[in-house]
Amino acid sequence: MNLVWHRADLRLHDNPALVEALKSGPALGLVVLDANILQNTSPRRRAWFYQNTAALREAYKSRGGVLLIRSGLPWVVLSELVRELGVHRVYAVRNSTPYARFRDQKVEEALPGWVTWLEGQYIQEPGSILKPDGGPYTVFTPYSRRWWAAGVPVLLEAPAHFPPTRLPPGLDLGTIPQETPDVLLPPAGEEAAQKALEVFLRDKLPSYHQTRDALAGEGTSRLSYYFTLGVLSPRLAAQKALQIGGEGARKWVNELCWRDFSGDLLYHHPQMMTQAFDPRWNELPWNDDDELFEAWLWGQTGIPVVDASMRELRATGFLSNRARMVVAQFAVKLALLPWQKCERAFRDLLLDGDNASNLQGWQWAGGLGVDAAPYFRVFNLITQAETHDPSGIWLRRWVPESEGRPQPYQNPLLDLHLARKRYLAVAEKIAKKPLVERM
Ligand SMILES: Cc1cc2nc3c(=O)[nH]c(=O)nc-3n(C[C@H](O)[C@H](O)[C@H](O)COP(=O)(O)OP(=O)(O)OC[C@H]3O[C@@H](n4cnc5c(N)ncnc54)[C@H](O)[C@@H]3O)c2cc1C
Repeated sequence: MNLVWHRADLRLHDNPALVEALKSGPALGLVVLDANILQNTSPRRRAWFYQNTAALREAYKSRGGVLLIRSGLPWVVLSELVRELGVHRVYAVRNSTPYARFRDQKVEEALPGWVTWLEGQYIQEPGSILKPDGGPYTVFTPYSRRWWAAGVPVLLEAPAHFPPTRLPPGLDLGTIPQETPDVLLPPAGEEAAQKALEVFLRDKLPSYHQTRDALAGEGTSRLSYYFTLGVLSPRLAAQKALQIGGEGARKWVNELCWRDFSGDLLYHHPQMMTQAFDPRWNELPWNDDDELFEAWLWGQTGIPVVDASMRELRATGFLSNRARMVVAQFAVKLALLPWQKCERAFRDLLLDGDNASNLQGWQWAGGLGVDAAPYFRVFNLITQAETHDPSGIWLRRWVPESEGRPQPYQNPLLDLHLARKRYLAVAEKIAKKPLVERM
């Protein structure tokens, strides 16, 4: 029997590890509850992971299959299971964050040559889109040209039934822990994700290019929390959107390209976890002011668009891309808060929290060298709200004190004008320094 080790691919549809494993006989699914990941994240994100794991177990069961749950270090768990069950081979979809690569290396050392690694977390695997000279891209537009030219890989069907597996009598199938989230979670599982995709494609895709920038985030798919855990295949989503076609579809699939670009950047530049992409920006005069950090985190800065964003995120686990850019810019460029601390706290609040996309988002919005984002572009936080929430309904909902007006209210913790001047003065000097080395 083969083992399918699910990690960020909590789905049966379009799952290359599952399809490959079933080619040579019966297969058992496995999810390892890895403390290195689960103890390092927030209750809401753990709860979301558990609920999607439970949905995957149901999906296996409804097709006559079995999903095992084990806790521990993956390399130890896998070695034990291979021996205990007489497993032929292990199949897994490749992940490429620094921890995932460390973990998978440990698995390779424990079980040399036993695991078949397959591509499926992204549309184009990190590391696969390269410049003509063989180097990685650091700017999105040329990357995206190659990405579009590569096309969307062929989709794989979910198995209708699992062939019967003979399990040792009394085998412990393992239990999925319960965790109470502090937000209302979306419906879990691939069926729910595919339904949400269908609704988005029908109702919002055609106008996506016009509505995607609203601060309230009503024009976008809200599928990111499914993509992050691989509950929904990005290849399926892209293919369905492209079949519909039009400007909305092209723009939307281009966002999935941004997701791949983020994965690619982190794959080639793992230092991005802690360092500015362009090391010159490490020298900004960071202000490790706890009071300001807490005010930012809890939406109490006195700047309506920032506070509305952080309050919405805390209350729901989701935030529009526009609002994410706003709060990251505020934190990095205006408040000069240590970006690593903000990025981490922000990720814990997001249901879709993902190392690669979050780091790319923070470093791009913060002007830390990702892509061609110029350092001198500093959002005007009043006009951001006026343009992207013209009725003020979103502001009023999350910051009633603002009465829907974008101007600072009560006692703002930062003078936006002075903060902008201070940032630009230092940033200009840093930008003039020669670029010594790119990571
Ligand atoms: C500071 C900051 C932090 C971010 N952190 C995350 C994160 O932790 N996890 C995450 O999935 N996205 C992150 N993003 C990217 C983006 O904001 C979200 O993916 C998007 O808002 C999710 O909403 P949606 O599913 O409705 O997106 P849609 O607009 O419907 O886009 C479709 C999909 O494309 C991908 N996508 C869209 N925009 C981006 C982008 N700029 N970069 C990478 N992928 C993108 C997502 O998978 C998304 O679900 C971040 C952006 C910024 C500026």
